[in-house]
Amino acid sequence: MLNENLTRSKISKWLRETDREKLTELYDVADRTRRKRVGDEVWLRGLIELSNYCRRDCLYCGARASRRAERYRMTREEILESAKLARDYQFGTVVLQAGEDFALDEAFVADLIQEIRERYQLAITLSLGERKDSEFVRWKEAGADRYLLRFETSNRDLYDAIHPTAEGSVFQDRIEMLKRLREIGYEIGSGVMIGVPGQSFDDLANDLALFRELDLDMIGCGPFLPHAETPLGRIEARNGEWRTVSIHGTTSEDQRGISLSTDKSFKYPTTDGQAPNDIETAFKVVALARILCPDANIPSTTAVATIDETGGRKGALERGANVVMPNLTPKKYRRLYDIYPNKAAAREEAEKTRQTVLKQIREIGRVPGIGSGSSPRFLKRRA
Ligand code: SAH
Repeated sequence: MLNENLTRSKISKWLRETDREKLTELYDVADRTRRKRVGDEVWLRGLIELSNYCRRDCLYCGARASRRAERYRMTREEILESAKLARDYQFGTVVLQAGEDFALDEAFVADLIQEIRERYQLAITLSLGERKDSEFVRWKEAGADRYLLRFETSNRDLYDAIHPTAEGSVFQDRIEMLKRLREIGYEIGSGVMIGVPGQSFDDLANDLALFRELDLDMIGCGPFLPHAETPLGRIEARNGEWRTVSIHGTTSEDQRGISLSTDKSFKYPTTDGQAPNDIETAFKVVALARILCPDANIPSTTAVATIDETGGRKGALERGANVVMPNLTPKKYRRLYDIYPNKAAAREEAEKTRQTVLKQIREIGRVPGIGSGSSPRFLKRRA
């Protein structure tokens, strides 16, 4: 039966499924579960990308420290202006996201949270990476409601390979951090990238089972999108393994953005079958996440819309998702927050993105949610 109690091997089997009729059944069950458990409202979260400075050097991410990229950091006033847009648009929630930028320090972020609450009465979600416990506590006290921290992959070897510990700091376990965030009182969200080189179908099935185990309030997943100026954007299959393309000592034009210090030429774990980073696999993950965690809030992510702006965004909403995060970052900064290339809506005004999203929601017979839209999972746990 297709329900919350799916075993890992059944989950893995669904991820490999290619039969159209069976997939239609999976998507129907996910859509019915979504309607029954979280209704027809689509919650809109205004995304503000505060800064692309980052101290980490994740092998997948365009904001990684060693990339010679143009950096920006929004000012306090710019951030408050963007938050005002969320209020004017009746979005109900803002998501403050950034690289691990320590200029966004405890006091700066706490003040922002207080100011946004006072001025605009919005719910606040933070997505600022791995930060100190004292910061998590202070920001919760200041009025933050939710924290997003993807564990990226539950395969520990793969995780260690793609997400090296930042220089001068100790390894921090994102899964432990999520549990701690819940303890502090946050509504917690996590997720993974789909189709990272070296990620097998079984890995992805384990990720999904872990969503259920962690009893997440929010689950955001999107296809891995290779960024040419990162090591993971430059790999090739050799002898059944993924390897970074050596960039050592090269001077060619298109490799300018990559720092030579990242040339490690490590091997990826051999896997039984590489999970694809295509839209179908992303749809399967969304559908299975809905079935396994029926009361969670699940976004149709920007990465999905990046593969297919209309079909992708609507497609995920019709297969279990109930949240969209329209981008409110000022246009002049948007192209600089290129964690992956060709991000959906990277070159348009907030108003245009909002119109597109509202139209797509109407076209599939759904309605924009009014209010803060906490996950039923979170509300039930608190009751
Ligand atoms: N610094 C914060 C925010 C990172 S951006 C943090 O680490 O939590 C949010 C998400 O974008 C990441 O968690 C990652 O899953 C996703 N992401 C980064 N690079 C990507 C890529 N190349 N393709 C797809 N998703 C990517």
